[in-house]
Amino acid sequence: MTRIQSPRGTFDVLPEDAARRELLEGHAKRVLGAAGYRRIETPAFEATELFARGVGQATDIVQKEMYTFSDAGGRSLTLRPEGTAPVCRAYIEHGMHKLPQPVKLWYLSSFFRAEAPQKGRYRQFWQVGAEAIGSAEPETDAELIVLLSELLEAIGVRARLRLSSLGTPETRTEYREELRAFLRAELTLTGELELNPLRAFDRADPATRAVMERAPRLLDRLAPEDAEHFAEVQRLLDGAGVPYEIDSTLVRGLDYYTRTVFEFTSDELGAQSGVGGGGRYDRLIEQLEGPPTAACGWAAGVERMLLAAGELPTAPPVVDLFVALAEPEAAPQGFQLARKARQAGLQTQLELSRRSLKGQLKHADRLGARYVAIVAGARAASLKEMESGEQQELDPDQVIPSILRGSRLA
Ligand code: AMP
Repeated sequence: MTRIQSPRGTFDVLPEDAARRELLEGHAKRVLGAAGYRRIETPAFEATELFARGVGQATDIVQKEMYTFSDAGGRSLTLRPEGTAPVCRAYIEHGMHKLPQPVKLWYLSSFFRAEAPQKGRYRQFWQVGAEAIGSAEPETDAELIVLLSELLEAIGVRARLRLSSLGTPETRTEYREELRAFLRAELTLTGELELNPLRAFDRADPATRAVMERAPRLLDRLAPEDAEHFAEVQRLLDGAGVPYEIDSTLVRGLDYYTRTVFEFTSDELGAQSGVGGGGRYDRLIEQLEGPPTAACGWAAGVERMLLAAGELPTAPPVVDLFVALAEPEAAPQGFQLARKARQAGLQTQLELSRRSLKGQLKHADRLGARYVAIVAGARAASLKEMESGEQQELDPDQVIPSILRGSRLA
């Protein structure tokens, strides 16, 4: 029999990794919470239709990357590949348009995409995301961008911000036609580029790149009100002191964007340089049969942020007290003492392996325990201060008060 391993493109979050993730989560909670964003979590799977309609039939995600399956009732379900469509579904389903707008939400969830695994690209990965639903104003776009920039700064990620505008879907349709015609004249178009010619800006081969240098740009085709919205976002970012580059080639892999799009990239990451990004999606809620509602949001990859952050200071676990048993019969007293010590706020571990007393002391030392209480029965205990090596006999009831007093064993 072969040993069972974790599926390709997935990874285990080991305790050391969990500590770094908790730190990141703490920063996300602080940065987003301070601005009034509240946590939301949606199910790991949704009706497939949500992503087909929400993310867009022509996207890589829907075409190639979804984990789709049927349940016992023959309904098609999909492991969520992204968070915006589910949050919009929840906004509609819970009538959140009745709340004061915009409704500001954030999440930290896992997502699933059947991509070719490599460093920074996995088949199950985590994202921190933020969405502000119910405002069309450029202040919302700018606030969201500033918040992501603050989160990245808080964890020590240095990233470049690229910014663009995609205008309205109508402008884009016209532009797509113009670009398709331009590309047909210049290149032999594959199926993917026929379907979505904007993807040509993502191509790495020199021939396509050279052609794309000369290609018409969507930014030059924006309607006046879209251009004004974009200019206002830039003014607000200038005011906030957040540097950015206008990048008219910025193509995001999701179809629902309108107007502002942005992406933070880090040079620390190699090929998968995108740390996080997002934009405005003013038509999505309506597309999902909700009331017409403008919205904006972003998502940033947890693994990418942690890769780009490098070392994050995480404290080793503290052990205030290790409860050792002089003999196995003392287990009930030891068990009680450990429970009471935890209730009193002490980080307390109990001997769980029936080691010899010598073995228990060695183990406590390896754990870095500050104190060891050796419980001998209902009446007798001794308390050892590990750093000084001093030891004192005392009543079991006195162990916790003695530690809380900062123990004066001497
Ligand atoms: P997207 O939803 O494609 O805009 O992705 C937003 C962010 O999620 C990216 O910038 C990455 O940081 C992260 N991300 C996307 N796909 C993956 C993946 N397959 N593995 C790890 N992180 C990912």
